[in-house]
Amino acid sequence: MTMSSLPSWIPTQLLLGGEWVDGSGGSFVVNDPSTEAPLATVQRAGVADVRKAIDLAAEAQPKWAARAPRERAEVLRAVFEAMIERRDDLATVMMLENGKSMTDALGEVAYAAEFFRWFSEETVRIGGELRTAPSGANRIVTFRKPVGLAYLITPWNFPAAMATRKIAPALAAGCGFLLKPAEETPLTALAVGQLLLDAGVEPGIVSVLPTDRPAEMTDVVMADARVGKISFTGSTQVGRILLRQSADRVLNASMELGGNGPFIVCEDADLDAALEGALIAKMRNGGQACTAVNRFLVHDAVYDEFVARLSEAMGQWEIRPVINRVAVDRIAGAVDEALSAGARRVLGEGSVPTPGCFYPATVLADVPSDARILRDEIFGPVAVCVRVKSDDDAIGIANSSDYGLASYIYTRDLARGLRLSEALEVGMVGLNRGLISDPAAPFGGVKQSGLGREGGFDGIDEFLETTYVSVNWEG
Ligand code: ADP
Repeated sequence: MTMSSLPSWIPTQLLLGGEWVDGSGGSFVVNDPSTEAPLATVQRAGVADVRKAIDLAAEAQPKWAARAPRERAEVLRAVFEAMIERRDDLATVMMLENGKSMTDALGEVAYAAEFFRWFSEETVRIGGELRTAPSGANRIVTFRKPVGLAYLITPWNFPAAMATRKIAPALAAGCGFLLKPAEETPLTALAVGQLLLDAGVEPGIVSVLPTDRPAEMTDVVMADARVGKISFTGSTQVGRILLRQSADRVLNASMELGGNGPFIVCEDADLDAALEGALIAKMRNGGQACTAVNRFLVHDAVYDEFVARLSEAMGQWEIRPVINRVAVDRIAGAVDEALSAGARRVLGEGSVPTPGCFYPATVLADVPSDARILRDEIFGPVAVCVRVKSDDDAIGIANSSDYGLASYIYTRDLARGLRLSEALEVGMVGLNRGLISDPAAPFGGVKQSGLGREGGFDGIDEFLETTYVSVNWEG
């Protein structure tokens, strides 16, 4: 399906405290989802490697934190420049190991690089406060300090951006890190590691440790008192395990977990704009995004037209593979279950290429309100449409979820849009927009979609602690 091959500079060893080494745990194979053929063999980090990475990072982190903020900022800025310079190579790696289209991959490189630019600008603005206590008796002074060593776990759907969204604020704050990329897509993370070294980061604080045995590595890291932070992006199920493990050491945890994105189309919406936004919010990355729409909640007056036009547009979308065979089977199972519950398939009966992990763009209409597909994250190119009678009806359905991450609203009435935005139990709303991810904005969820925010002004706070001094300097 693709003629591209991996750029020769992409590492397949471990990055262990700034050095490229073979892993003590052997190796594992990374596949290309568009052919299901092996793409690369990557070194597997073993327990001994993980311990060594923590030793090296613990020693080097104070040195990095002691560098002037401006100097740290310049390193981050250099990584931003390097990612842009290498954008074609990075996009090629992502296309090969993740299966995303070149357009999506290039978009992701730009987005991922932007976290380094944004947080390079934030590095020199880490503040504290000075206030007079309400009693007037003393002053309140605060300092911000790095949390120390951060353990970063990332998923396969955005192999660059999910890593840089954590690495950049960690480095900006003065932390060191161990990154465990997803076993499906370690190559992008290794490439970013190389760019960090080239840019002059304190080498000991950078470890990128691929493994296909995530629990084994995580047990070692989470038990080590020198690790001060876990930042995870992935499923709610794994997030819960990590939160339980965090409890043992009361470890500072940030969690970006699953979503069940509602997309509300009011009867006064600009339907052309809503369709354009729907395609981005549903089909970017083949629907494999935690921000992806799971439920189109469309007002009765425009429902039939919206469903027909969405099906037509999705039918013309370039078919790309999903991440692996397990994902194909999972999506197919969810669709079949919805069909037997009474949903109507408007699009999606066509054939798909073989070999490769493909599932056709699918539109389901008139999905019964108790169908499982309305509760569980689809993570694939399947649009599920539900007819709603009113705003209250839409909000009721939207909020009847354990998740609360991304959501979308289309209406020409801005006041109505803001009212609905406030009523939704979510972390993020796209109001007449299908794309909400922005390094300058706080990304995150409520309910079982997570804890904490990444990006924006909040992102760096996740890697900082506050010390307060109550001081009396009057004689
Ligand atoms: P997905 O279903 O999208 O693959 P996961 O939550 O399973 O989402 O995976 C996200 C990340 O979590 C990956 O890097 C994966 O290796 C890691 N992971 C999976 N299970 C565990 C675990 N028990 N402990 C720590 N990390 C895990």
